[in-house]
Amino acid sequence: MRIVVASGKGGTGKTTVATSLALVAAQLHEVCFRECDVEAPNAALFLHPALDTHREVGILVPQIDTQLCTYCGKCARVCQFHAIAIVGKKALVFPDICHGCGSCTLVCPQEAISERLAVLGVIDSGLSPEGIAFAQGVMNVGQPMSVPILRELKKWCPELPHTHRGEQAREIDIRDAPPGASCPVVETLRGADFVLLVTEPTPFGLHDLKQVAAITRALGLPAGVVINRDGIGDDAVGAWCAAHDLPILLRIPMQRQIAEGIARGNTLVSAAPEYRPRFHDLLEAIIKRVDA
Ligand code: SF4
Ligand code: SF4
Repeated sequence: MRIVVASGKGGTGKTTVATSLALVAAQLHEVCFRECDVEAPNAALFLHPALDTHREVGILVPQIDTQLCTYCGKCARVCQFHAIAIVGKKALVFPDICHGCGSCTLVCPQEAISERLAVLGVIDSGLSPEGIAFAQGVMNVGQPMSVPILRELKKWCPELPHTHRGEQAREIDIRDAPPGASCPVVETLRGADFVLLVTEPTPFGLHDLKQVAAITRALGLPAGVVINRDGIGDDAVGAWCAAHDLPILLRIPMQRQIAEGIARGNTLVSAAPEYRPRFHDLLEAIIKRVDA
């Protein structure tokens, strides 16, 4: 079962919810956690995996052999991203805007194009002390494209420890989505079974919730909402969710004990253990909705 934890707005507590959900799920199920916030991954700070495997990931970008090239321009014409230009007897490749689709290589009549790996980042993986199979994408500084890293991260297929063999045990895949509502979020959401939308009861929280909920709806994915820092604003988020048939599955009030615990690097369920049963209920509610 693939659960994506998303929030339009950054800083709403998405990682707080995702990591606590993973810890609680790992008590009964085989859990795999994918940190998809590749520009600022921080879930490892809370789950403490031993990241002992590192793999470079990137895209294949073209390089043109000027001995073979006849400057016919077919490669430049096929490129939807204007990443190749043929100017007179010059062939120019712009790797930063190349999407690695391979079309130019396919159309070249001279077989003058070969491909090289342009590294965009790495995928680190390992096991957490609780037996959670963990992987995080980390984008290289200055790279403009995170989607190819996310695609590789989604393909990552860990050896699960299979500690739980009871009838209830399932394989649960939790993805901590990037903030925002652009291509990396869409890529993270694709293929999910359920989307948990984390928000806060403020005008900014509601504005960004609407955006990511619209993507979720467009992709036809079932969703539910967690309201974090409940009580700091008004109930406009609650009213909007009710009007749009989005169930609120958990409310986490603004509490100094939780804020201090998280600031010290603890998960929510470690900082406030009374939340463990509530996260169990949250997971059960998600499983019921997916199975329905
Ligand atoms: S398609 Fe091949 S031969 Fe034609 S311009 Fe591009 S690289 Fe050169
Ligand atoms: S691989 Fe695709 S995006 Fe890159 S230069 Fe070739 S056609 Fe353009």
